[in-house]
Amino acid sequence: MSDVQYVPSWAQRVAESLGDGPHVVVTGISPSGNIHAGNLREVLVAEAVTNALRARGEEVRFVFHADTVDPLRKISPGVPANFERYIGHSLSRVPDPEGCHDSYAEHFLAPFEAALAEMGVEIEVLRSHELYESGFYADVTREAIERTGELRDILREVSGREMPEHWSPFLPRTASGRLGGRVLKHLPEQRCVVYADEDGWEESADYGRGEGKLGWRVELAARWKALGATFEPFGKDHTSRGGSTDSADRMAREVFDYPVPGRYEYEWIQLRGRGAMSSSKGIVLLPGELLEIMPPGALRRMVLGRDPARALDLDLGTGFPRFMDEYKADTESDPVPFAHLVTVAQTVGEDAEAAAEMLGRGGYEEAAKDGEKLRRDLRYARNWAREPWAPESYRIGVAREEVPSEAAGLDEEQRRYLGTVAERLRDGMGGEETQDLLYSTAVELGVKPKRAFAAVYTALLGKKSGPKAGPFVAGLGAPFARERFRRVSEVTSSSKDES
Ligand SMILES: [Zn+2]
Repeated sequence: MSDVQYVPSWAQRVAESLGDGPHVVVTGISPSGNIHAGNLREVLVAEAVTNALRARGEEVRFVFHADTVDPLRKISPGVPANFERYIGHSLSRVPDPEGCHDSYAEHFLAPFEAALAEMGVEIEVLRSHELYESGFYADVTREAIERTGELRDILREVSGREMPEHWSPFLPRTASGRLGGRVLKHLPEQRCVVYADEDGWEESADYGRGEGKLGWRVELAARWKALGATFEPFGKDHTSRGGSTDSADRMAREVFDYPVPGRYEYEWIQLRGRGAMSSSKGIVLLPGELLEIMPPGALRRMVLGRDPARALDLDLGTGFPRFMDEYKADTESDPVPFAHLVTVAQTVGEDAEAAAEMLGRGGYEEAAKDGEKLRRDLRYARNWAREPWAPESYRIGVAREEVPSEAAGLDEEQRRYLGTVAERLRDGMGGEETQDLLYSTAVELGVKPKRAFAAVYTALLGKKSGPKAGPFVAGLGAPFARERFRRVSEVTSSSKDES
């Protein structure tokens, strides 16, 4: 099964709880700031349920409702402070803070869409400002305005707050660009409301042409009806008591006469050591950044976790190689351990041929055959090895030309060990064979293995630890390793003799 048709067991259960189709699976995100990996979780939950429904033969429309018409509520980190003046304006009408896209909304939406495309998520992206402008929401808006009293009662009962006397489900856009003129009169024939602007002037707004929008809680129920939604996942911020789904559920049933779509509540993604991901707090990981260190299929599994109803603590440091190895074990026939790829990638740089040779010598001939895949895997490994991901212990730099200065710190016993290993290393020895040789030589000479291996790493890397020694030494090639061990054993001992 390819990654894009991935159906985990929880998604299977959700799909079973939904009735017969056709289905419309909806996911909605407001591009009010960076759209991060936590937001990606919502889309991937929806994708998995879509896959499960399709697997049983259902017809499914899979929609990403980008809330581009939403007002700017607060300034996202990194956005100039003078954007304060756009608060209350639709995100689709606020300029791009960096000037590279048509609007504020597009600036944050575009990288997310690009990541979805790279992951092969086949989703229909709708922009809410376009839906309003095309008249798509005209009927539900009219219905909402006509039932203003009932909607207000529901909001009051669910939220426990008194609602303003002039409350309206519809927020006309005033001449200043702000959403929220006070509605005075409804002219259903003209699809218009008459409203008072900030200065009390009476104006009219055509809700069939997007001259305003429904308030968020009403819009949620209204768009279920307009889109014919049958399933939508929600984060726990929406589903808490008195939250937006509580009011939308009642509005759907009691006002819009529309059945509440199936639901799945997903939990937050935390970044280990930094807390829950939040674009307003500047704690974000962008899907595009994560795609630099792992393939789409791995990202899909990582973000969903075993069960998206549980909070996920993303460990992209020490725990990452193990995650990658589990993923590879599931998807590849003869996987190279990720940590070894990290070693190879840092040893050979961009040279894929040298990498293939090194993998072959280390006992991973199969992996060396698919050049394209190898190049990709090496790129992920190399990117992970950089700041800020890999812990220091994974970072290596093999000094190709010079003997590391740290080698001067090796004692007589360690130097004799390296000299003996140099005599015994034969061309073409595999990774395991080399590992055995390194170990048995240590035992034979009475050198504690920990000190023996420290000598190997010091000679090659200038530090006391490193990747698994056998495949690493074999990967570097016997001629290189022999020469290095011999030079370290001699150079440092002669310098000692002189002193
Ligand atoms: Zn931009």
